[in-house]
Amino acid sequence: MKIAIIGAGISGLMSALELLEQGCSISIFDQQQAGQAASWAGGGILSPMYPWRYPDAVNQLAQHGKALYNQWNEKLKPISGIDFEIHESGLLIFDESDFEQGLKYAQQFQQPMQHCESLSQVQLQQVNPRINAKFQQALYFSQIANIRNPRLLQSISAYLKQHPRVQFFEHCPIKQFNLGNGAVQSIQSENNTRYFAEHFVLSTGAWSQHWAEQLQLDIPVQPVHGQMLLFKTPQHWLPSMCMNKVMYLIPRVDGHVVCGSSMQNCGFDTTVHKATEQNILSACVEMVPELASFPIIKQWAGLRPSSPTGVPYIGKMPELDNLWANFGHFRNGLCMGPASARLLRQLILQQPTFIDPAAYSSTRLSPTGLAHS
Ligand SMILES: Cc1cc2nc3c(=O)[nH]c(=O)nc-3n(C[C@H](O)[C@H](O)[C@H](O)COP(=O)(O)OP(=O)(O)OC[C@H]3O[C@@H](n4cnc5c(N)ncnc54)[C@H](O)[C@@H]3O)c2cc1C
Repeated sequence: MKIAIIGAGISGLMSALELLEQGCSISIFDQQQAGQAASWAGGGILSPMYPWRYPDAVNQLAQHGKALYNQWNEKLKPISGIDFEIHESGLLIFDESDFEQGLKYAQQFQQPMQHCESLSQVQLQQVNPRINAKFQQALYFSQIANIRNPRLLQSISAYLKQHPRVQFFEHCPIKQFNLGNGAVQSIQSENNTRYFAEHFVLSTGAWSQHWAEQLQLDIPVQPVHGQMLLFKTPQHWLPSMCMNKVMYLIPRVDGHVVCGSSMQNCGFDTTVHKATEQNILSACVEMVPELASFPIIKQWAGLRPSSPTGVPYIGKMPELDNLWANFGHFRNGLCMGPASARLLRQLILQQPTFIDPAAYSSTRLSPTGLAHS
């Protein structure tokens, strides 16, 4: 079966991998270099921040992230030569107002990923001696990992590019669909080249609203700017991820520490802002005071593909037989990426699905002018 995928972020690249494994032939298109948009900019925490604040539908996909990435890393590494480092650092949360709910959530769902304990100050200093002594306690999720997402995208791209059943089109913006007989017949690039396939996947992240006009659908996906700072500390300097007031620190294995993030609606602009840098810096230094002695070596911003509840659209688009959605992952597209792609593959190939797909259905997209849910 021939499948064309528009958008080569984590959603499109993982969809390509899943479908390729089942014998499909893949064409994948991106308007820029593959894997350079939100999926590159993100932090790579393999869990929603404060999972209890999200709908079950988000957590149901996210809980498979770590295990599936482990499997993919083993498969891709020998061919791509890239290890995207699933770093089992655990996560400390300091927001006291969330302690009770967090413990209750962990007890209720009993997922190994969400195993959680309450730490006293002595225990906290044992887990992570860099933490500000003013924090008297913390919630500790010892199983939560992070991935090095830029390397993840490089690894998948390298694997796909060497595969005989994959055609990779970078710097190739897709402008429109050519429709006929209730289906997409072909897609057309900005330079008017047509590309044909049996099925077409939209994994266009924050740009997904572009399709609204042609499909006459209300697609409530907006870009939400998120800024990040990068520090380089000695290897193993910070033993765990840390989170407080929706700001976080993510240690990589080699001592890099990624800090974020912010939320701003400013269209498709990815300029970094000085005031935001200061906010992130002060929140992170509050958690780990010694971080202030290291310089910021890089900063950037990316555009999250927001959706009204953070539950992505995965499944067949309304009215058309062969057009499929995998977009709208908002703050959790990296942790939901592997399971979202698996669900999409099972739906396209009419296989039994590993979870109930109803919550993700694209029938939630209403015709233009009507309210959506
Ligand atoms: C600062 C920040 C921190 C984050 N931290 C985390 C985290 O810790 N954990 C987590 O799980 N998630 C995190 N996220 C969210 C996550 O990064 C996103 O949800 C995810 O990357 C979305 O992936 P995507 O493939 O749908 O979109 P993208 O990665 O944006 O990819 C979409 C691609 O489609 C292409 N495209 C769009 N339109 C067209 C077209 N017409 N023709 C051709 N190509 C097109 C774009 O060029 C782009 O490459 C973070 C995001 C940000 C910004």
